[in-house]
Order: sequence, then C-alpha cells, then structure tokens
Amino acid sequence: MKTVSLIIPCYNEADVLHMLRTELYRVCDPLTSFQFEFVFVNDGSKDDTLPIIKSFAETDKRCKYISFSRNFGKEAAMLAGMQYSVHSDYIGIIDADLQHSPDLIPEMLSACEEEGYDVAAARRSDREGEEALKSALSGAFYKVINKVSEININDSAQDFRIMKQKVVQSILAMPERIRFSKGIFTWVGFNTKWFSHENRERAAGETKWSIRKLAKYALDGILGYTSSPLRLALWLGILFCILGVIIGVYAIIRRFAFDELLMESFVMLYGVLFGSSGLFMILLGIFGEYLARVYTEIKGRPVYIISETNTK
Ligand code: UDP
Ligand code: MG
Repeated sequence: MKTVSLIIPCYNEADVLHMLRTELYRVCDPLTSFQFEFVFVNDGSKDDTLPIIKSFAETDKRCKYISFSRNFGKEAAMLAGMQYSVHSDYIGIIDADLQHSPDLIPEMLSACEEEGYDVAAARRSDREGEEALKSALSGAFYKVINKVSEININDSAQDFRIMKQKVVQSILAMPERIRFSKGIFTWVGFNTKWFSHENRERAAGETKWSIRKLAKYALDGILGYTSSPLRLALWLGILFCILGVIIGVYAIIRRFAFDELLMESFVMLYGVLFGSSGLFMILLGIFGEYLARVYTEIKGRPVYIISETNTK
C-alpha cells in the first residue's frame, strides 16, 4: 500500500481545524489503496491550535503534530513538514483554512499514481474575493520575477500540491534558509499536472498575510532567483562615465572655441549631484539587500525550532 503524508501548516487556525479534519476524513477514508498520515505543523499559534491538534493525535494515530517554539512562517512550517514526511511515497501540502479544497486530493493522487506525473499542483482559476491592490501588486511581482530571473513562475500556482518522494528529496536538498517555495517548486522541475480550482473563501479565521509580509516575501523571491539588479550598477556606471566625458568635452569646446564660461552649468551641477548621489544610494541599498541575505544564510541558523512533537 502506498503511503501519503499531508502537511498542514497551521497558524492560529483553531476555528477551522475540526471542520478541516472532517473534510479530510470524508475525502481520504474512501481511498483505501492509500495509507494516509496527517502532519499538522503548529507555527507558533497563540490560540488553541496546539491543544486541538494534540487531541487529534490522541484519538487517531495517523495524526502527527510538530509544534514550533514561536511563529517562523509558513515556509518554515512546510519545510518541517517535508523533512518529517519524506519517508512517504507521496507528500502533499494543504492550507488549514479549506481554501484548498480537499476534494482535489483523489484526482491529484491518481494523476501521480496512474498518469505518471511527479507533481499534481493546484492553481486558482480566478482571484475573486481578493483585494484589488493585492491582486495588482502580485500581478506586477510575477511579471518582474519572471522577466529578470532564471525561473518562470506560474502566477496562479498555489502551494497546494501532492509530490512524489523524489521531488521532495530534491526540494530538501536545497540548503537555503531564506526559502521561497514558489521558486523552489519551479526550480526543481519535474513534470507537473495542473488543477484549476476557484478561489474559495476561508472557512473561518482570517488571513495571516499583510501587504508588508507579502512585500518581504516578494523581495526574497526576486533577490533569491536573480542577480541582475547587482549588474545594474555596472551598466549605470558605464552610462554615467560616457555622459560625464561628453559633458566635459562640450564644456571645454565652449570655453576655448567660443571663450564662454558656462554659468548655467552650476544649476546643472546640482541636478547631476542630487541625481547621481540618489542613484548611488539606491544601488547601495540593492547591494545591502543582497548582503543581508548572504549574512542570514551564512549565519546558518535553523529555519525553525521544534518545541514538541509526536513524530520522534
Ligand atoms: N500559515 C503559517 N504560518 C504563518 C502564516 C500562515 O503556517 O506565519 C499557514 C496558515 O495557517 C494557513 C496557510 O499558512 O494554513 C495559509 O495562510 P493564510 O490562509 O493566512 O494565507 P492566504 O490564504 O490568505 O494567502
Ligand atoms: Mg488562506
């Protein structure tokens, strides 16, 4: 019998967990050719998420829990879940809030089992119910990252997916600490079957993503998958040098050929000064962002800390 681990990252999801478990049982219990395991990762919730998933584990030994010492983010929760679940034939990831419909699970499994796909992943067919600003910003983000980076991310792809063990092994072989799963999933490749489903409302509770958190996530994604912003300094430097020489030659010709001193050039000087120093600071800022990430990686701190679990 093939084994399946479903990873469920949970951050303050006490309101939906019972509903989620009922749904998972309803969908998974009839699939008798698979042996399921439900891996709840409590990402430092402040509500009753932990006692609830512990009670699940007491009544059903297929329920596992991994509880972090604080909130480390969904990326860390998915990583912890995958590191534990890599023993299974199939490893899935699904949100706790029922926005990812468990009804897709049987089809996803059969895509891997019968049709030979390595990954069965969900993408949303619309962005209904999402704030307009959030939609616009995320649309712009995917345009930029796909243009400047070595990977091509499907802008409607979700983390909701089922992967074969070898896929998860390749994901875990990527040692970076600043993890941007949308990039990682794309980067490792493998043949993927996509399932479109509509954007559902959260069953209960509220979203954990603020625009600020999303902006940081977007920056991690772009800086993690391209170094071209660093090259910007080189090209702008060359451009500025050429411009400087042209202006200099022009001023010398005016001075000696026509015996004029360019007084208006003082004004121009200020413009150039502010413009170029502003530009240098922006470039320095870009360098700083990369440097900060190098520093984070080099410190080699763990991505998460487990305070309690029944997986060991
Ligand atoms: N999540 C998490 N840690 C966090 C934020 C979110 O484990 O710091 C989980 C959350 O419990 C949910 C999933 O990640 O299962 C998606 O989060 P959410 O529904 O808030 O995001 P949205 O669907 O609004 O993008
Ligand atoms: Mg959600």
